[in-house]
Amino acid sequence: MNHRVALVTGGLGGIGTQICRRLAGDGLRVIAADLATDAARRQGFFDALAGLDVHVETVDVSSYDDCAALVQRIEATHGPIDVLINGAGITRDASFRKMTQEQWNAVLGVNLDSAFNLCKQVVDGMCERGRGRIVNISSIVGQAGAFGQVNYAAAKAGMHGLTMALAREVARKGVTVNSISPGYIQTAMTAAIPDEVRNQMIANIPMGRMGQPDDIAQAVAFLCSDAASYLTGVNLPVNGGLFISF
Ligand code: NAD
Repeated sequence: MNHRVALVTGGLGGIGTQICRRLAGDGLRVIAADLATDAARRQGFFDALAGLDVHVETVDVSSYDDCAALVQRIEATHGPIDVLINGAGITRDASFRKMTQEQWNAVLGVNLDSAFNLCKQVVDGMCERGRGRIVNISSIVGQAGAFGQVNYAAAKAGMHGLTMALAREVARKGVTVNSISPGYIQTAMTAAIPDEVRNQMIANIPMGRMGQPDDIAQAVAFLCSDAASYLTGVNLPVNGGLFISF
């Protein structure tokens, strides 16, 4: 098998689908793994990405055993995974005083445990082969916090901590580990925000608009390309200027 294989979690989501399109467009065989993979959703995905080398698998990224089984299945069918994009994510918003333990655990499980669960399955192989790319989809909320998102902010900041530490451990093995922190991107996740709140958010974005899924997908494609071979442990903010820092 001479194709490179990419695994994209949350691959049927708004940002995930676009990441799959970009990576497949760059010549990778792409496996989109998602929790919700009913027939209608699969069909929508395959219609949107017609002609590209894309495949769909079902997984709950919060389950270590599910992730182990997923990677075994993929590697048996398609060969070793060269690129891992940890893109699955959920929100369960509530002010801290009202947040339940279930809301905390659910968000930490899907947004942070997932990165551990999947990196564990692929890192050894990447190190042995002397090449690999891991990109974790974090969030501006992990950098700056947000009202009602203590769980999400903690998970996304934790994801970048994992990125920085793992990047150091595997740098000499030819594996890069980076994160991307999207600002507000037009997907189902942000469609759930009430109009009034969303308009207020947009007014605060220096570029005056929300981002598109492809803004994130292009950044992912760059971090997976040869052009980014000397970048590791980096957090790349893609946010229209909403959070500017150094
Ligand atoms: P989305 O809801 O369209 O996509 C998320 C996908 O993750 C969905 O397809 C969902 O089915 C999948 N998923 C949920 N739980 C899962 C599980 N347990 N196992 C496997 N898959 C699961 O949302 P999106 O906006 O495309 O978000 C993609 C990523 O980008 C998420 O990690 C999100 O936190 C992050 N992000 C989004 C924004 C934004 O503004 N949309 C901003 C910052 C970060």
